[in-house]
Amino acid sequence: MSTIFDKIINREIPATIVHEDEVSLAFNDINPVAPFHVLVIPKRPIVAVGTMTEEDEAVVGHLLRVCRLVANAAGHEHFRVASNSGAPAGQSVFHLHFHVLAGRDFSWPPG
Ligand code: 5GP
Repeated sequence: MSTIFDKIINREIPATIVHEDEVSLAFNDINPVAPFHVLVIPKRPIVAVGTMTEEDEAVVGHLLRVCRLVANAAGHEHFRVASNSGAPAGQSVFHLHFHVLAGRDFSWPPG
């Protein structure tokens, strides 16, 4: 199923892209909840961590490295990575994404 993130990958709607390579795209969240809030997504349409397969392992590992790269590139050594898997967990866009959050302190547990 196509999502808004496919439109961003295909440049059908604008986004502030901070990283792109063959398998991933990273762009600013449209509704940031921290001073730094970037979404890291696969170009391949994986739905969520909860549906990923063994075939997706290399891509997902790469996405986590990109999380570090984009945070470090913006000067953030410390950051939070979060991924909501399924609507009850807070997922609203059903294309895998890692939220990379930085620039403020975070509490635990999340709400
Ligand atoms: P989720 O709720 O699925 O964990 O996260 C989806 C995220 O996508 C939200 O933080 C939301 O602000 C962001 N988002 C939704 N639509 C757009 C959009 O069109 N552009 C961008 N850049 N972010 C979006």
